[in-house]
Amino acid sequence: MGEIAIRDFTNALANGEDPRSVRGVCYISKEANEDYIELPSHDECLKDKNKYIDLFDHFYQNNDPINANGLCQQIDSRYLIQNPPCDYLDEKEMDYIADFKYVRELHPYHVPEGKVKCLETVKFSIQTHHGCWGECNFCAIGVHQGRTIRTRSEANILKEAKEFTTYKDFKGIISDVGGPTANMYGYECGKKLKKGTCDDIRCVDFDRLCKVMKVDHSRHLKLLQNIRKVPGIKKAFLASGLRYDFISADKKHGYEYLKELVNHHISGQMKVAPEHTSDRVLKLMGKPGKEPLIEFKKMYDRLNKEAGKQQFLTYYLIAAHPGCEEKDMHELKHFTKHELKMNPEQAQVFTPTPGTYSSVMYYTELDPVTRKKIFVEKDTKRKEKQKDIVIDKSYYQRRKSGGASFQS
Ligand code: SF4
Repeated sequence: MGEIAIRDFTNALANGEDPRSVRGVCYISKEANEDYIELPSHDECLKDKNKYIDLFDHFYQNNDPINANGLCQQIDSRYLIQNPPCDYLDEKEMDYIADFKYVRELHPYHVPEGKVKCLETVKFSIQTHHGCWGECNFCAIGVHQGRTIRTRSEANILKEAKEFTTYKDFKGIISDVGGPTANMYGYECGKKLKKGTCDDIRCVDFDRLCKVMKVDHSRHLKLLQNIRKVPGIKKAFLASGLRYDFISADKKHGYEYLKELVNHHISGQMKVAPEHTSDRVLKLMGKPGKEPLIEFKKMYDRLNKEAGKQQFLTYYLIAAHPGCEEKDMHELKHFTKHELKMNPEQAQVFTPTPGTYSSVMYYTELDPVTRKKIFVEKDTKRKEKQKDIVIDKSYYQRRKSGGASFQS
C-alpha cells in the first residue's frame, strides 16, 4: 500500500530533493547499495532455481516496515535497488484516507462504454482494515498489503455506513463489511506491532496457530451490531473471506460471532475457502487441515437449524496447485461427497500470481521449504482434467440453460 510512499515521493519532487531515499521506492542504479542485502543476481537465478528460492525468501522476509532491510539485485550491468517498505498507516491515518470524498461512481471517461457490473458489488461495501497474516501461499495480499492488520476506527466505519444512506441509489444494503480476511479485524500480535513480523515462523501454519496471537472477534462483533443500528441500514453482509479455523480458536467470542453472522449477516450462503482437503496439498498451499472445516460446518449447520434458516456453505476449491496430482483431486471429491455432503459446482484452476510462494513452486518445481522436487501440472488440458474430477458438470449444463445457482 503506497499512500505514504506517494506522499513522500511527491514531497521530495516538490522540494527538489532526491526521491531515491524515499521508503517504498525501487530504482535502477549503476552500483549496488552496500547497506542493503544483495540478492542472487538475475543471471544466477536463471542458472540455479535454488538461488531463485533464496531470492524470494529474502524478498518475503523483508516486507515489514519495522524490520525490513533494503534489497538490491544485479541485472546485467545494472542493479535494481529496493528501499525498505514505507510505514504502515495507523488508525488515524486509515480513517483520514477513508474520509476522502469518494464519489463511488464509474470514471466519467468510461461512462459512454456502459455499466460496469462489478461496481454494484463494491459501491456500498466497507473496507474495515488492511493486511492479512493468513499467508496462503497462492495469495499476494500478505506481500502487497503486509502481514500486520491496520484497522479503521469503529466511529469512522459507522460514519461511512451513515453516509451511504444519503445516496439516492442506496437501498439499505451494505454488500460487505470486511477486508482481505474479514475476521482479522480489531486484534493483532503485540510482539509483531513492536518488533515486526517473525522471519522464522508463521502466525498460522497448517493447524498451528502461534500462541502469541490471541484471536478475538469481539471488536468485529460489536462493529457489526452497531452497523445494524444505523438508521436506514436494512442489511450489512459479510462477503469477504473468513478464516473458519479462527472461530473455534476464539473460545470467548467465536461461537457468538458465528451465531451473529448466521442470524444477520449472510445472504443465504456463506463462502469459505478450504481450497483442498489433501493434507499434502494443503501444506503446500499454507492452508489449514480439514479438521477445522468439519468442526466449522457442524457449528454452522447447528446454528442455522436453531435459527430456522436454510443457508448454505459455498466452498472455494483449487485444482492443479503445485504438488496436486489427479489422485489428490479424487481425494477431494470423496471428501466433498461424504464429509461435506455436496457436489462442488465450481473449482478454479491454479493461476500463478506474482509475489507468491506458490508461483515459486510452479516455476522451480521444488518445495521452497524442503527444497525437494514436487510434481507440478503444467499441461493445460490435464489441469482442466483435475478440475473436472471434482466438479458437478450438471452445474454448467444448468448454467447454460439459465437455471444454475452458486449454492452447494
Ligand atoms: S509472535 Fe507469533 S503471532 Fe506474533 S508475529 Fe511472530 S509468529 Fe506471528
